[in-house]
Amino acid sequence: MNIRSQFPILDQKIYNKPLVYFDNAATTQKPKSVIDALCNYYLTLNSNIHRGTHHLAAEATDRYEQTRRAVQSFIGARHSHEIVFTRGTTESINLVASSFGNRFLHQGDEVIVSAMEHHSNIVPWQLSCERHGATLRVIPFNDDGVLDIEAFKTLLNDKTRIVAVNHVSNTLGTINPIAEIINISHQAGVPVLIDGAQAISHMAVDVQQLGCDFYCFSGHKMYGPMGVGVLYGREELLEEMPPYQGGGEMIKDVTFEKTTYNELPFKFEAGTPSVGDVLGLHAAIDFMNATGIETIASIEAELTQYATESLQTIENLRIYGTAPQKTSVISFLIGESHPYDVGTLLDKFGIAVRTGHHCTQPIMDRFGIPGTVRASFAVYNTKEEIDALTAALQRIAPMLA
Ligand code: PMP
Repeated sequence: MNIRSQFPILDQKIYNKPLVYFDNAATTQKPKSVIDALCNYYLTLNSNIHRGTHHLAAEATDRYEQTRRAVQSFIGARHSHEIVFTRGTTESINLVASSFGNRFLHQGDEVIVSAMEHHSNIVPWQLSCERHGATLRVIPFNDDGVLDIEAFKTLLNDKTRIVAVNHVSNTLGTINPIAEIINISHQAGVPVLIDGAQAISHMAVDVQQLGCDFYCFSGHKMYGPMGVGVLYGREELLEEMPPYQGGGEMIKDVTFEKTTYNELPFKFEAGTPSVGDVLGLHAAIDFMNATGIETIASIEAELTQYATESLQTIENLRIYGTAPQKTSVISFLIGESHPYDVGTLLDKFGIAVRTGHHCTQPIMDRFGIPGTVRASFAVYNTKEEIDALTAALQRIAPMLA
C-alpha cells in the first residue's frame, strides 16, 4: 500500500498551498490504521482494564497486554514485564531519575549526561541530584555535533551512578555511539539510560543487543498517538527500584500499617492508563513493521541527503549538526536572521518547520545562537516537498538579508 496515502492529514492545503509537513521530530503524523484503532477502542471496547470480570474489561485487558508483548518484540526485550507504559519519554525519564535516584543516589555521587540532551533528559536528573546531594557531569561535543568519547572516559569514575544520553539528538540529528558508551560504562559497572525518542522511528532498536539498562521513547514520534510512551528497564534494576507513583493497580495489599507492591510491570503503572492510546501504539508498531524499518531508514536517508545538498545552494545558509552519522533532521540558520522569522515566512508557503531552541538550550549556548530552524523528515515526505522548501527559502533569503 502506498505509504503517503495512509496519512489523510497530509492531503490538505494551508494558505491554498499543499501542506509540507517537516516538523516530524516534534511529532509524526498518524496513519489511518492508528486513528481507526483509537476510534474502534472508544466505539467498541472502552473499559477499565485489569479489574473487571465483564467481557469488555477482559478484552481491553487482553489487547493492552498484547501491546506490551508487541513492544517487547519490537525492541527485543527479554521479558514483557520489562516494558512499562508511561505517558511518554518525559515521564519515562522522570520515573527512572526519581525511582533509581531514591534507591541508588547518595551525597557525593555523580550522574553523567551529555551536552546535547533534550531538557527532559537534563532537568529530571538535576532534580534528583539536588534531592540526594549528587552532581551532574556533562559530556561535551565538537563543532560537528559529535560527542567527545575521550572526555566521557575521563568523566566516568567510581562516584558515577548512572549515564543518561540520547540515542539521537533532536536538534543536531547526530546518531550517538551508544553501543560504545554502554560498553565503556558497563566496564566501570555503571548502568546506562538511553533516551530513544528520536531513534525509535528511524532505526531498528534491540535493547538486548545494545545491552542498555533503560530505553525510553514516545508513541507520538513513531506514528502512534500522543499520551503513551514506553520505559524499558532491565528486570534486575526495576525489581530493586521503589515505585514512582502510588495508587491503584501498583499495590498487592494496602493497610494503614503497611502497603506491599504489585509485581513488575504493574508496580510502575499506578492508576488508569491511557488504554486507547496503548492500543493505538500497537497499530503504529504494526504500521512500522509492515512498512519495514529498512525501507523507512533508506527513504529518510535519501531525503536527508537530497535536502542537505539542496539547502546548501541557499546563500548564507549554515547547517548545525554535521556528524557523519545522522538521522533525518536538518537544523539551520540563514545569515543573521532570527529562526522565528524564517519559520513564520515558511508557514506562509504552507511549510511546517520548527524554530527555537528545541528544548536543547545547552546546544544553542554551545554554538552561541538563539535557536535554529529545524526541518525533519519522515517516511511519507517527498523530494518534491524538499524542492518546495528550497524554492521558498530562495524567495525568503533576500528578504532577510
Ligand atoms: N528526548 C528527545 C530527544 C526528544 O526529542 C523529545 C521530544 N522532543 C523528548 C525527549 C521528550 O519527549 P516527549 O515530549 O514525547 O515526552
